[in-house]
Amino acid sequence: MSAIEECPFCHADERKIKENDLAFVILSNPRKMKGHFLVVPKRHVEKPWELIDREVKAIFSLVFFVQKKVSEKLSVGCDVRQNYRPFLKQGRVKVDHVHYHIMPRDFEDELYTKIEYKEAEMFAELTPEERGEMEKVLS
Ligand SMILES: [Zn+2]
Repeated sequence: MSAIEECPFCHADERKIKENDLAFVILSNPRKMKGHFLVVPKRHVEKPWELIDREVKAIFSLVFFVQKKVSEKLSVGCDVRQNYRPFLKQGRVKVDHVHYHIMPRDFEDELYTKIEYKEAEMFAELTPEERGEMEKVLS
């Protein structure tokens, strides 16, 4: 089967909650928390940088709409995330079709208390050498 035939987001018509001309909103299933939404381009695109400008505009129009609604009605804060992880095989919790996660967040919520509290240990001071090395990545 081709990537599009196997892709759950290319066959998600019954899951769509809201849409515009080039993108749509669904609930993540499985989800990390109640109110975990996904915004997905209608065209099967695997690399975010291959989206065309009109798709980017359509996606972020829905991302900001959902983020505002989630922040007003479900939680105090809201994370927006896109994961590009070609090193993982497509499966139940990993879909190759580009999508943006919108997740309600609150002070010391379940995601923080189970997982993210450890992230503070990872923060390190940026050195001038590292800054120079990383600037070269973008040249
Ligand atoms: Zn797809």
